[in-house]
This record gives sequence, structure tokens and C-alpha cells, in this order.
Amino acid sequence: MSDTHITVTCTNCSFETTFSRLSAARVALADHERATGHTANWTIDSLSPGIERAGEEAGVCGIPGSSAADSPLVRSESRDASDVRSTDAE
Ligand SMILES: [Zn+2]
Repeated sequence: MSDTHITVTCTNCSFETTFSRLSAARVALADHERATGHTANWTIDSLSPGIERAGEEAGVCGIPGSSAADSPLVRSESRDASDVRSTDAE
């Protein structure tokens, strides 16, 4: 049962580490993303492919799609539209 290897790789840099425990891999992944703002992924090599699928469904980093990180920046620009509405109220 100890044949499981979780490889954490970063899509933004050459960061790569291997763990034998899923919990340790998640911590390292979250830690790297938090420290660098990068987007990291994990790959699980084990005899049970179902575990990897369950991990993806659970949401490794809570962000569906790497481009979703740009959404908050786009939304903040649309705030200017509210200024037009305020002048229209008078
Ligand atoms: Zn990185």
C-alpha cells in the first residue's frame, strides 16, 4: 500500500516534488501557490487510479481552470460602470 507516489509540479516554474502521502502533497502544493502565486498540479501514481479522480473532484486548489485566477481583476475594472448610474439618478 506504500507504492503511491504523488508528484507535485508547477505550471509556472520548475518546482517539482514527490510525496508518498496525499496530505503532504496537498500542503506543499498549497504552500507553493500561496508563496509564489503560481498554479501547481499533482499527479498520483498508484495502483488505484480512482484515487486520483477523487482528488480532482475534491478540488486541489479550488480553482476550476487556471485562467479563473484572472477573473477578480477583470471584475474590478467593471466597477466604473456604477459611476454612470449615480449621475443618472438625479
Ligand atoms: Zn511555481
